[in-house]
Amino acid sequence: MSCIFCQIIKKEMPADIIYENEQVVAFKDIHPKAPLHFLIIPKKHIPSVDHLEEEDKELMGELVLSAKKIAKEQGVSAAYKLVFNVGRAGGQIIDHIHLHLLAGWKSDKERDIPGMP
Ligand code: AMP
Ligand code: ZN
Repeated sequence: MSCIFCQIIKKEMPADIIYENEQVVAFKDIHPKAPLHFLIIPKKHIPSVDHLEEEDKELMGELVLSAKKIAKEQGVSAAYKLVFNVGRAGGQIIDHIHLHLLAGWKSDKERDIPGMP
């Protein structure tokens, strides 16, 4: 059985997909840690940042540029966080690389997210 995010990519598992292109998919995090919380993932299964190879350079560029596009589409270009958790002790629970896009706070206080930098 493929990983949960691979299942979302193949549409075998439901998700609220907000963006998709040839290389990446983005969807709403099921347990949001900010007023807006999306996960941006490559369609290629890579377990974590620690598993990246030289050949993944362009794909990671695409991932970050997709985050920028999504922030614009969602009207939060002026203020957002991008986070990769790496390894269990680093807070990673799903072993398919994913970029968290967090945004939508109304105050600095609201922006303090437990478990996130
Ligand atoms: P991490 O802790 O960096 O591995 O982040 C995994 C994220 O995936 C968490 O924020 C979860 O809330 C989220 N998540 C887990 N399962 C799903 C799912 N089926 N759909 C959307 N988000 C999910
Ligand atoms: Zn996967």
